[in-house]
Amino acid sequence: MSDVSAINTTLNSPNRQYSLERTRNIGIAAHIDAGKTTTTERILFYTGLIHKIGDVDDGNTVTDWMEQEKERGITITSAAVTCFWTQKKDEGLFKSREGIGHRINIIDTPGHVDFTAEVERSMRVLDGAVAVFCGVAGVQPQSETVWRQATKYKVPRIAFVNKMDRTGANFDNALNDMRKKLGAYAFPIYLPIGAEDKFAGVIDIVNQKAVVWGEGDIANEGLKYEVRDIPAEHKDRAEAALAELIDAVSNKDDAIAELVLEEKPITPDILKAAIRRLTCKIELIPVLCGSAFKKKGVQVLIDSVVDYLPSPLDIPSATGHVPGAEEKIEVAPNDNSKFCSLAFKLWTDPFAGKLVFFRVYSGQLKKGDTIYNPRTRKRERVSRLMVIQGSERKDVDGVCSGDIAALVGLRNITTGDTLCDESFDVMLEPPTFPEPVISMAIEPKSKADRDKMSEGLQRLAEEDPTFRCFTNEETGQLIIAGMGELHLEIIRDRLKREFRVEADAGAPQIAYRETITKAAEGEGKFIRQSGGRGQYGHAIVDVMPNEKGKGVEVENNVVGGTIPREYIPAVRNGIEEAIKSGVYAGYQVIDIKVSIKDGSFHEVDSNELAFKMAGIFALKNAFEKAGPILLEPIMKVEVTTPDEYQGDILGDINRRRGVIQGVDAKNGQTVLAAQVPLAEMFGYATAIRSLSKGRASYSMEPAVFEQVPNSVLTTVLEVAKKKPAARS
Ligand code: GDP
Repeated sequence: MSDVSAINTTLNSPNRQYSLERTRNIGIAAHIDAGKTTTTERILFYTGLIHKIGDVDDGNTVTDWMEQEKERGITITSAAVTCFWTQKKDEGLFKSREGIGHRINIIDTPGHVDFTAEVERSMRVLDGAVAVFCGVAGVQPQSETVWRQATKYKVPRIAFVNKMDRTGANFDNALNDMRKKLGAYAFPIYLPIGAEDKFAGVIDIVNQKAVVWGEGDIANEGLKYEVRDIPAEHKDRAEAALAELIDAVSNKDDAIAELVLEEKPITPDILKAAIRRLTCKIELIPVLCGSAFKKKGVQVLIDSVVDYLPSPLDIPSATGHVPGAEEKIEVAPNDNSKFCSLAFKLWTDPFAGKLVFFRVYSGQLKKGDTIYNPRTRKRERVSRLMVIQGSERKDVDGVCSGDIAALVGLRNITTGDTLCDESFDVMLEPPTFPEPVISMAIEPKSKADRDKMSEGLQRLAEEDPTFRCFTNEETGQLIIAGMGELHLEIIRDRLKREFRVEADAGAPQIAYRETITKAAEGEGKFIRQSGGRGQYGHAIVDVMPNEKGKGVEVENNVVGGTIPREYIPAVRNGIEEAIKSGVYAGYQVIDIKVSIKDGSFHEVDSNELAFKMAGIFALKNAFEKAGPILLEPIMKVEVTTPDEYQGDILGDINRRRGVIQGVDAKNGQTVLAAQVPLAEMFGYATAIRSLSKGRASYSMEPAVFEQVPNSVLTTVLEVAKKKPAARS
C-alpha cells in the first residue's frame, strides 16, 4: 500500500500511514448464529490477513482466540483486529475512490445476551457497524437487543443479510422485518440474484450493474467477481429499486431532493455521497446481501464499509468532563491535539500477557511516553504497543487519533478508564454496565488453590465489569455474581484454563437487592467501658432514596468536629460495609443517599474501630426506619413459537408472574414479548421444550430491578435465610 502514505491532511501527523478519512472503526453486530464470526473471518480473508479460510465449524477461526469460544462457537471476547483494503480499480464500479487504501479496525461484538457488557463496551468505541442478519430467520429477538444498543450509542449501520445460500433464504422478508421490527429506514443497495442454491450474484442498485461470482480458487484466493450488465430478466427489478432508493434518499437529503425536483440526473457518485451522508447521520440503513460461508458478497460488503460507514471525522466528537466537575469537554479527532483515549477491553493474552485495548480519540502516543489515568491519578510509562492483525500480534512504535491498539504490561487500568496526557485532565464518559442478576458460591476442588482462585477471580473481575466476586462475611464463602448462568459457567471455565484452578459451584441464586422507600435518621453507638481503656464511637446519619440506577452516595456533612475528621473515613467504611452485606435480608443495598451529619467522641476511648462500628449501627438503624424493600431482577423474555402452542405458553408465562408486553403473529409463528422475574425462569428451557414439543425457542436479558411483591416476599425471605451462602 505504498500509494497511500503520501495522502495526508492537516489534521494528520506525518507519522501515520492511513489518514483519518481512510480509517474505519467498525463492529460486526449480530444475533448469535447469524454468521458474525464467519463474516469477520471472510473479511480478514479477503483483506489478505489470513491465507487459509477457517470455518467456524472446524473451530479454527482467527477472532475466536479462546478455547471455549471455539468449542461453543460463540464469540465471547471482543477482539480488535486490524486489516487493510484497497478498492478495485478495474471493475469500473468504484471509480470515485479507485486505488485508495483504507485501514479497517474490526471490533468483534458478542451476540449472546449474557455478554451485554461486551457489546456495550465495544459499541462505545465503534464509529460504525455492520449488522448481520440471517437470510432465513430475519430479525431475531437478540438482533433487536444489539440494534437497540447500537442506537443508544449512536452507531451508524449498514445491514448485511447473510446466508442467502440457505434453504428458505428470503431477502424481502428480512428487509421487511428490519423495517417493521426495528423501525429501520432500510433500503437495498444490493439485491440478490437468485437465492438458496441458485444464489449467483447481486445487483448493484446505485451503478445499475450485476456482480456475478465466478468459480475461483475458494480455499486460497476466494471467489473472483465479474461486473456485467444486468440480465434482462432482472432489469425491471433493478430500475424499480433504484427509483425507490432515490426517492428514499430525496425524502431526507435536500441536495438530492433538489435534483429530483429539477429533474436533473443523479449520477452514481452523487447518489453514493448522499447515501453516505445519511448513513453517517443514522437516517438511512443501506442493505446488502450475501453468503459469508460461500464467500459471496464479502468484497462488496467491505467496499460498502469504506463507502458508507463513517471515518472518525464524520461523526460527532467524543465528549468528556473535567474530573469532579460537570463541564463538558469535546475531544475532537486530531493528531496534533493532546493525547486522550479510552481503555475499553482488558485481556490476558497467553503470549503477550496483560493487554489493555484502547481507542485513541485525540493526539498520539509513542513507545516510551507516559500516560495519565485521571481515575487513579497515576502515571504509567508505555513500554510496548501492539496491534492485532488476525492471529498475529504486531508491535508498533506509535498510534494516532482514531486508532485502536493494545497496551502491553500495564497494571492499575480498568475497563472504562480514560488514559490521557497529564496536562489534559479529562474523563471520557465510560460505558454504563448493568448490575449482576445471578450469583453462586464457588470453592476450589483442592483447598490449597484458594489463594490462586481468589487472584484469578480478581483478575477476571478487572476485565469484566459485569462480573463480581466477593467473600460472604457470614460464611466466609467466595461468591461470584454475573449476568446469567452461561456467563458464570464461562468464568469457571476460564479459571480452569487460564489459572489452572478447578472449582465447584453451588446452585445459582438470584441476586436480590435492597433499597428504601423514604428518608429516615439513624443513630449508632459503640461504647464499651470495662475498666482500663474503653471504646467510644457515636454517629448519626440520614438516609434517603436515590434515583434508580444512581447507586450509593455517601456524603460527610458533619460540622463543628462532633466527629473528628480523622474518624470520618472509619464511619464511611462502616456504612459501606453495611451496604454491601445488606440490612433487610442480607442482600446488597442499592440506590440510596447517606449523609453523615452528627455524632460525638471521647478524648481517650475513641478509635477507628469504634467509629466503624458506629457507622454500621447508624446505617442499619436508619435503614430499618426508611421503609426497606427487596428488589428482584426482571428479565425481558421473548418467545418464538408456532401459533398452536401460543395459548399454553402464554398461560405458563402468567403462572411465572410474567407480564405480557406484546404478541406478534406472522406466517404461523407467534413472537411473545414479556417481562418475567428471573426467580421464575429457572428450568424454563425444559418447560418450553415440553410445552411446544421442542418447536418454540426463547431468549432473555436483564431488564430492570423491581420490588418483590408481598405475595412471594415471605418465601423469598425464607429461602434467603436458608441459603445465606450465595447472597450478594
Ligand atoms: P455467529 O454466532 O454470529 O458468530 O455465527 P457463525 O459465524 O458462528 O455462524 C453460525 C453458523 O452459521 C455456522 O455453522 C456457520 O457455518 C453458518 N453460516 C454462517 N454464514 C453462513 C452462510 O452464509 N451460509 C450458510 N449456509 N451458513 C452460514
